Parts: sequence; C-alpha cells; structure tokens
Amino acid sequence: MIFVETPANPTNHLVDLEACAALARQYATPDKPVRLVVDNTFLGPVFQHPLKHGADVVLYSATKFLGGHSDLIAGAALSSKALMKEIKAMRTFMGTMCDPNTGWMLMRSLETLKLRMERAAASAQVIADWLREHPLVERTYYLTHLEHCPVQQDIYRRHCLSPGSMISFDIRGGEAEAFHFLNALRLIKLAVSLGGTESLAEHPATMTHSDITPADQLQMGITSQMVRLSIGVEDPQDLMLDLSQAFEAVGIPKEVRVAELA
Ligand SMILES: *Cc1c(COP(=O)(O)O)cnc(C)c1O
Repeated sequence: MIFVETPANPTNHLVDLEACAALARQYATPDKPVRLVVDNTFLGPVFQHPLKHGADVVLYSATKFLGGHSDLIAGAALSSKALMKEIKAMRTFMGTMCDPNTGWMLMRSLETLKLRMERAAASAQVIADWLREHPLVERTYYLTHLEHCPVQQDIYRRHCLSPGSMISFDIRGGEAEAFHFLNALRLIKLAVSLGGTESLAEHPATMTHSDITPADQLQMGITSQMVRLSIGVEDPQDLMLDLSQAFEAVGIPKEVRVAELA
C-alpha cells in the first residue's frame, strides 16, 4: 500500500498522486496489487478528487469538514465496488461502523458541506494574503502561495480546485512568540481538530504533532514558530481583527523595528 495525505497536515505539502499511481503500477504483481490510498481530509470531496488521479481508496476524517460542526467523530472510505466489499467485510470484523445518531448528524451536515467549504476557503484566501504581508509573519504555508516552488504549484494546478481553508504560518521568533500569540487570541479558539464552522488555532509542534520527534518534525517542515489556522465561516474581518490584536500583544521584535527605521 502507498498511503499519502495531501495536502499534508500542517504544512499543506502536496503529493503528486499521478506519480504515486505510476509507482503503484510499477511495483504491483498479478497476485500482489499495490493500492494507492489517499487521505483527502484537508480539501474534502468539494476541492480535490483523488480517484480521478489514480487513487484506489480515498479516506476522510468525517470529524472535520464533512461533519463540520465539531460535534461528531467518524471516518469514511470511498473506492471501487470490489474494494468496498473487502473494506466493508473488514469493518464487520473490526466493528467500526458509526452509530445511528452520528449517521443522522452527518446527513444533516452534508447538506451544507459545499456552502461551508466555499465560504471558509474564500475567507482563508483573504486572510492568508493578509498574513503574508504582516511584519510579524516570516512565511505562510498556503496553496496559492507556492510561487517559490514550481513543482508544488504544478501539482496544485493538476489536483486542486481551491486552496481550501487550512493556513499555517511561521511567526517571527520562536516557540515563545507562537505561544504568546495563541494565548492572546480571543475569537479564534485554541484547539486541535479542524474543518468546523468556528475558526481554530493551534501549535503543531507541541499539540497535533507532539508525538513526532523534533528531528522528524524539522524534516517534515514543522517549525517551533509554526501556527496552524482552520478558518471557519465567520466574517473574515472579525478574524483578521482578532489575529491583528494577538500580533500586537506579541509586539514588534527588535530586528523588524530596526529594518523599518532603515
Ligand atoms: C483529524 C485527521 C485524521 C484523524 O481523524 P479522526 O476523525 O480524528 O480519527 C486523519 N487525517 C487527517 C488529515 C486529519 O486531519
């Protein structure tokens, strides 16, 4: 099995699914197929269709955008009829089917999935562009900010229909500045998870990705000054005012002030 998560959490790094599918074909033998399995949680079924790019199975954490209200835990797998039969048989052994109430809440949520994802992505685009210009932001990790990397930009053009609503950025400084910033937010809640109607912020290195060794974190591009945002459906102006006052609470570092004077 080739198992990939694209865009990857929390860096928005993209994986070339067509290249992975070619690799799977290369290593497959008649008695041992190689399956390409893609975690499509970040862009969801609205903004990326991995089955069209050679994936055998698409996975979702339905806890995120599909559920969308941070009030259920579920997962989903999509595949061909033949593979779904095998997956369903395994589910019977494992007992991982969701309860009726979760199923009912998911049905409710799917009615607004496209509306929620489009609204959140529109806000995220405005916020990401604003963050990129902010003096306290060293760099952004966002799918329309890939000018520095033509390979990633090419994958984006082939696979993605929108940059989505997950933004990461490196705040100027280090862990202390990231913590100060996160603690100063008032509207945006400090929490893991993502894809809900409410905006969330978190510190990947010590929260979602804390079980990864510091060396592996660095290799994955997870820095100590990285902040991850999940943009919700609130007014983007309110979100930017909150981010702005949190930046002000951190204060302008000395080297930025010197650069401004120069
Ligand atoms: C949250 C998440 C998962 C895990 O899903 P749960 O519903 O929390 O079990 C897997 N992949 C991605 C990309 C996620 O964001």
